Amino acid sequence: MVNLILFGPPGSGKGTQAVKLVDRYNLLHISTGDLFRYEIGNQTPLGKEAKSYMDKGQLVPDSVTIGMLRNKVEANPNVAGYIFDGFPRTIPQCEALDDLLAEKGETISKLLMLDVPDDEIVKRILLRGESSGRADDLNEEVVRNRIAVYKNETTPVFDYYAKEDKSVKIHGVGGIEEIFDRLAEEVDALV
Ligand code: AMP
Repeated sequence: MVNLILFGPPGSGKGTQAVKLVDRYNLLHISTGDLFRYEIGNQTPLGKEAKSYMDKGQLVPDSVTIGMLRNKVEANPNVAGYIFDGFPRTIPQCEALDDLLAEKGETISKLLMLDVPDDEIVKRILLRGESSGRADDLNEEVVRNRIAVYKNETTPVFDYYAKEDKSVKIHGVGGIEEIFDRLAEEVDALV
């Protein structure tokens, strides 16, 4: 299996690139943000809980997020591999993911980080907010909080996989195809 973590700040293009990676490598795309938005759309208890954090740009608690991720992985056992997008975002989430994959005799193959400067990110997210319908994309204060949370709470995830020599930084500015080629080069080296 090829198990990728697509990593990077909010607005770095993870969702866009994940769709293209799925197309080429036939992996299952799991975005915890998308899973939460689906739950919110269906007004489930999990969705209601997640929304209270997402609206402020804070992380949903690990126990909730890890449980949801585990369900999704366990519901899809027979795949060529996974692309984790927006997960893991904390060290306990890294450990839970490693345990989950270990149960299947698997590991993370690579963490690919899309590196994009802050100003560019804020611009991209506010622009996306005009059409995405995401409340957390429209409020500049919430956007800046999401970036701060990424820096303070989520960047240790890069270092966690760097210790295993699995973390790779990809220049995330440029055309969509150009950035995809940079990612694909890293994935091709695995398969
Ligand atoms: P995203 O679509 O990845 O930008 O995520 C949108 C929001 O969902 C985040 O700002 C968090 O509130 C929540 N979220 C998504 N993934 C996670 C995660 N792995 N851990 C905690 N909260 C998450």
